[in-house]
Amino acid sequence: MNVLTQSFIRHDWTRAEVEALFALPFSDLMYQAQTLHRQFFNPNEVQVSTLCSIKTGACPEDCAYCPQSARYDTGLEREKLMAVEKVIEEAKAAKASGATRFCMGAAWRSPKGKDMPYVTNMVQGVKSLGLETCMTLGMLDEQQAQTLADAGLDYYNHNLDTSPEFYGDIITTRTYQDRLNTLANVRNAGMKVCCGGIVGMGEEESDRAGLLLQLANMPEHPESVPVNMLVKVEGTPLADQADLDPFDFIRTIAVARILMPQSHVRLSAGREQMNDQMQAMAFLAGANSIFYGEKLLTTPNPEANKDMQLFKRLGIKPEAYEVHENEEEQQAAIANQLQEAKLDQFFYNAAN
Ligand code: SF4
Repeated sequence: MNVLTQSFIRHDWTRAEVEALFALPFSDLMYQAQTLHRQFFNPNEVQVSTLCSIKTGACPEDCAYCPQSARYDTGLEREKLMAVEKVIEEAKAAKASGATRFCMGAAWRSPKGKDMPYVTNMVQGVKSLGLETCMTLGMLDEQQAQTLADAGLDYYNHNLDTSPEFYGDIITTRTYQDRLNTLANVRNAGMKVCCGGIVGMGEEESDRAGLLLQLANMPEHPESVPVNMLVKVEGTPLADQADLDPFDFIRTIAVARILMPQSHVRLSAGREQMNDQMQAMAFLAGANSIFYGEKLLTTPNPEANKDMQLFKRLGIKPEAYEVHENEEEQQAAIANQLQEAKLDQFFYNAAN
């Protein structure tokens, strides 16, 4: 890292500095964010991930925005843990449509001991396709984090959601500190961190500043920072939340870009509600990662081909991920993986 680069990577931001960024005139904020973005990234490349819900619904937590919580009647169909083979099939399809990272999400408070062999098999199987792997499974203790890291998991997603001050209005079943502990376990196990939040939940601008301050002052910035826009789901406590001003969303992206210049800032849930112009503005503000595919866990995501059309119109290319194994080696690795485990090991027995 050269001296110039180093001077932009800070972990000692003050709340006043972050709030001052939010308060900048919009054009000045965009200019700063774009200037910095171009120093660290090719502005015409966007990293593409695909998200697969490996276990849907029936979550015991009470996150007020989430249709997967068992506490809210959202009409969501519950699904058991997906078979490993099926996950690998989904990953193959994701790779064929241009994704370089495959993210697997389970609606758990935290994984149980009996779940771990299945999820580690998933990591190994998806990795053998030459894709980067990411998981979000809830809270992890030190040992679970190490097990996943040893299986080869590249990224772990665990969001802080919002500022510490507003957090209690959104979730009561786990604390902010619980989340920070999981993030520390993930980091200590050697995995990359994917951590961000949601805007539009009724928080103040100072809460958006508070969230980004937490992320930017971590000892290492999360490599991936998803910025979600609330998807209002009928049946959840936030179903009738007032709409967020789109410019406030773009400002949040721009400030995240300035505070964490080396991180991928991800345009995440809520893209369905954004028109092409708003998405283009988010890219201008420094967003350089998206989820691509038909579903974003359980909320709709703009159709994959629509994304590609937008990329074409904007001259954006998906960011490449170097795959060292050739296609044949990858196929052989998958076949091996499948052969090594007895078939029934690939299926989750919910009765256990
Ligand atoms: S956000 Fe995660 S932890 Fe919270 S209710 Fe939804 S699935 Fe459960």
